[in-house]
Parts: sequence; C-alpha cells; structure tokens
Amino acid sequence: MKKTIRDIDVENKRVLVRVDFNVPMNSDLKITDDTRITATLPTINYLIEHGAKVILCSHLGRPNGQVEPKLSLRPVLARLSQLLNKEVVFVEDFLNKQSAAPLKDLKSGDVALLENIRFYKQEEKNDEAFAKKLAALADVFVLEAFGTAHRKHASTYGVAKLIPAVCGFLVESELDVFDKALNNPERPFVAILGGAKVADKLPVIENLLDRVDTLLIGGGMAYTFIKAIGGNVGMSLVDSSKLDLANKIMDKAKEKNVKILLPIDNVGAKDFSEDAETKVFNSGFFADNYQGMDIGPKTIKCFKKEIKKAKTIIWNGPLGVYEYDKFRRGTNKIAKYVAKNKGMSIIGGGDSVAAVQSLGYSRRISHISTGGGASLMLLQGKSLPCVDLIEDK
Ligand code: AMP
Repeated sequence: MKKTIRDIDVENKRVLVRVDFNVPMNSDLKITDDTRITATLPTINYLIEHGAKVILCSHLGRPNGQVEPKLSLRPVLARLSQLLNKEVVFVEDFLNKQSAAPLKDLKSGDVALLENIRFYKQEEKNDEAFAKKLAALADVFVLEAFGTAHRKHASTYGVAKLIPAVCGFLVESELDVFDKALNNPERPFVAILGGAKVADKLPVIENLLDRVDTLLIGGGMAYTFIKAIGGNVGMSLVDSSKLDLANKIMDKAKEKNVKILLPIDNVGAKDFSEDAETKVFNSGFFADNYQGMDIGPKTIKCFKKEIKKAKTIIWNGPLGVYEYDKFRRGTNKIAKYVAKNKGMSIIGGGDSVAAVQSLGYSRRISHISTGGGASLMLLQGKSLPCVDLIEDK
C-alpha cells in the first residue's frame, strides 16, 4: 500500500497536485464531460479542509510544447471554481516571476491552477531543470493523475523524484481495485480482451494466464490467434510477427488450465468502411476478400455464458471496429452483459469505457478506470514508474 494524503500533514504546506483535467471540449471550448474534474474533488476538498495551499497542475490535449490558446485550461478553471464554490487562482506561466507571484501569497485552503503543463516542451522530455522549478513551488507532491502515471514526464515522474510524494484518493482507488482483482479475485475470474494492438495485449494475456480462469478474446487481435492455429482469416488484421507467441500462449493456457475462448464466428466486411458489404463467417473460414470487423452472434452468446458466471471481470478493448455503428454490436452486447453481472467489474481503455457510458451502464460497473495506458500496464504485471517513487505505508 502506497502512502496517500491521509498519511501526511498538509496543514499550511504548499501541495502540488498533478491531476488529469484532460477533458473533452467542443469547438466552442465548452466542456462536454467533466468526469475527470469531478473525480478529483474528494482529494482537492480534503486538502482544502486540512489547510493545504493547493496548486493544481494538468495537461490538456497534445499542444506539443507550444502555447495553443484552444488548449488553455481556462474553461477548466471556470468549471472547477463552480464545483468547488470558490475562486481558483490561475497562473498563466509559472516560470514567469510576475505571473507566478500569486502562488507566494496563497493562504491555507486556497487553490491555484497552473496553465496547461504541456505548453512547455520540457514537460514530456522530463527535463530535470524544469522539474526542479516545478518542485520548487511546493513542499509535497500528490499524484492524482492515474491516466499519466505510466509516463515519465516532468510533472509526474520528475517532480515525484525531488520532493516527498503521495497518492491522491483517485490513484489510491485505482491501485486498490487492480490489486484486489489481480491478486485476490473472487472466482470465476474472466478477462475480456479486444482491440487491435496485439503487441500491447499479448503481454497482458501472458500475465493474466497466472491469474484468470477464462480469457475471452475478440476484436482485431483475435485474428492473429485464429491464423496461428491454422485458420483462414481472409484480409483480417494479423500481426504476423506474433504468430509463434500466440501459439505459445495457447499452449501455456492449456498447461495452466485457463480457458481461452476465441470468436467462433465473425462479421466480415469486403472493405474497412461503414457501408461495406458484410457477411458472417465461421472462424477460420473467411472468404479471401473479406476481413473480420466484429464478433458474430454465436460468439456473443458463448461469451455471454462466461460473463454470466463470472465473479470478477476485467475488460479492455472493443470486440469490433467500434467507430462504425455497423460493427458495434458485439462491443455493445458485451457491455450489457458486463453491466448485468453482479460481481466485481473493471473496465479500462477508451472504446470499452465509451460503450458502457453511451449505453448508460456506467453506474452498474464496479470500476471504470481513468487511465487506459496505465491500467494496461498494471494488467501486464508492471508497476507504474510514478507510483514506484511513492513510499509504502
Ligand atoms: P486498442 O487500442 O488496441 O484497444 O484498439 C482499439 C481499436 O481496435 C479500435 O480503434 C477498433 O476499431 C479496433 N478494432 C477492433 N476490432 C477490430 C477488427 N476486427 N479489425 C480492425 N480493428 C479493430
């Protein structure tokens, strides 16, 4: 267990909190979903109530080290002030003495927000001198940005190396949930993996083989497995460099008594487009000019049975090409079955999270992770570099 803000004295201390305010905005720069702001309120309110001088720091989008007015955190400032019901000081450029002056005058319980930290090119390079300047603003660092906890940036890893660092409540709950599921799950434990990046997902499968009872594999990555066992996958997405590894994984699963279920049928399309001609193929029997775009109806039924029995579920990645309505059915059905399950359910990764949210199932999921990349790293059995810098309790 890592130290959290509960384990330190924050009264009158300057506390730099790395949050993830990377919220979606429309073209009028209106925030369309403020979940990432509301998710950090328990930490911010705790710090206010305990007399800290709170300095918040976040990135927004990918300005690549340039000042981009469209990616300013000002809209977040307004929303945050509203939610906290108090004025939040905005610091346009903390490297500029005049602009940073209000930080010196912060009183116990005050809150300040720094402008988008990725406006500085030093941030993503984890520049040491830049991290030192950031660290000089505070006595303590709080990691509350789970979504960037796997990256070695100046405002995450760089600062945590220089001043005492602890977790905020959001990071604490993310770590707890994954730890419980991976190391002490209620069984049966079912993992559902989809998506396209086979290279990212194979290490996840390798790690999960020591933990889960059943693995359901869908999405683009399934075709590498189907091809590996000699099936014809037509034009489907395949990572040819991973065929041997896919076979080794399936052998290892047998040894460990882990059930791996691949799709038994698939919705194929003549080309990668929404209005392509489609046809359902049994796995391994694709026509040469079709590619797999979604799991088929028999697979949905078969996966449903396993999900129904599960007491712990981890899901990462869409079961089909989720961006197109026509190939969203598999992912949406799986979202429904996971939501219906009464056990512990954890979802990470953009498209799978989007599916449960758009269908209104969010509240029926035990935990929706705020970090796709970070959660994938935990599922691979790796620790997060920024979290490693935080002392154990
Ligand atoms: P990942 O980042 O690995 O979770 O992959 C997500 C992407 O996988 C989404 O953009 C999906 O469109 C894509 N995807 C899912 N199923 C397939 C498929 N059968 N063929 C190609 N891409 C897919």
